[in-house]
Amino acid sequence: MTGTSTGTSSVTGTVTGVFGRHTGHEHVVFCQDEPSGLRAIIAIYSTALGPALGGTRFFPYATEDDAVADVLDLSRSMAYKNALAGLDHGGGKAVIIGDPAHDKSEALLRAYGRFVASLGGRYITACDVGTYVEDMDVVSRECRWVTGRSAAAGGAGDSSILTSFGVFHGMRACAERLWGEPTLRGRRVGIAGVGKVGGKLAGLLLDDGAEVVVTDISGHAIDRLRAARPQVDVVDDATALAYDGIDVYAPCALGGALDDEMVDALAAGATCRAVCGGANNQLAHTGVEKLIEDRGILYAPDYVVNCGGVIQVADELHGFSFERAKAKVEQVFETTRRIFALAADEGVPPAAAADRLAERRMAEVSRLRGILLPS
Ligand code: NAD
Repeated sequence: MTGTSTGTSSVTGTVTGVFGRHTGHEHVVFCQDEPSGLRAIIAIYSTALGPALGGTRFFPYATEDDAVADVLDLSRSMAYKNALAGLDHGGGKAVIIGDPAHDKSEALLRAYGRFVASLGGRYITACDVGTYVEDMDVVSRECRWVTGRSAAAGGAGDSSILTSFGVFHGMRACAERLWGEPTLRGRRVGIAGVGKVGGKLAGLLLDDGAEVVVTDISGHAIDRLRAARPQVDVVDDATALAYDGIDVYAPCALGGALDDEMVDALAAGATCRAVCGGANNQLAHTGVEKLIEDRGILYAPDYVVNCGGVIQVADELHGFSFERAKAKVEQVFETTRRIFALAADEGVPPAAAADRLAERRMAEVSRLRGILLPS
């Protein structure tokens, strides 16, 4: 791991806090540009499959330690996600510490772009929570290793369209496993967080004949969805969803949605049979996947079903074709099925089965690099 010192000015971050976690990351970079207020951390978990690809989260972390923990978790998940999505990309992620509503500026985004550029293509960025296509357009003025740009700037546009599409296909695989038919018709789905991904997922589910009940801490997000889809029901919070007769719970806000309390609520609600949502890092701690299984609830691993966005941005690197990317995202149905089958065969929760498949692919492909090629 290194600190980097490219761009206007930079400092090496609290690397002891990173090393002490023993997470197995290849490379973690702390980036600072005091005049613009930029404080960013870029984490590359693995480049075994190729250049690390993953978005930039802009979030008002309470402490630097929280930001480090988040970027390490998110970048590791990206490596697993990219592996199971069949991409030739390793996993990376970046966080910018700050409130995107107040702290985002052209100077900050361009400073960030210079730090991404300083990695020479080892890390390719994209949008995440708190960053949007127009932000990536600004970053791309300083850096060519940027995806998720607007169509006007030559990019693929909003990745949440294909992310929600992939989650929907993962949910179809859950429905098939539980009820024999790959459809949500007649089922009640509870969505927590109806921003870019959750809002579009609600539309796909309604079109498939499901009932949808939602919650969001933002009244604006609820109003926007209800303006387009007045038939959705609304409850106060995720716990209320659990007691609202749902068949499937879809966490589509931030990470850690599946903690012990939420799993207990889903079990006490007594109707929920599956969890399948777009949020990254849903499991609040190791062991929750077993708790979910013990409660008789089928868990579709988050990084397996929410890979639509990264498939889209990876496609952008080769001249974007929406149809080509969409066809690849449809494979989420088969991948999710395969994971459920492997989990049943090996007697492990689906989250463990997914990890095994991803690790197998990373090991197999990186082993091939041992075959010497003529220079
Ligand atoms: P977003 O910011 O557009 O939407 C998130 C929504 O969640 C917002 O409306 C917010 O108000 C709401 N929210 C936050 N905390 C909440 C809480 N405690 N309870 C209920 N609602 C809450 O973000 P997004 O792009 O829709 O991403 C949502 C999740 O999906 C994130 O975890 C993100 O990392 C993940 N994800 C997104 C993409 C993508 O293409 N956008 C791809 C893969 C994964």
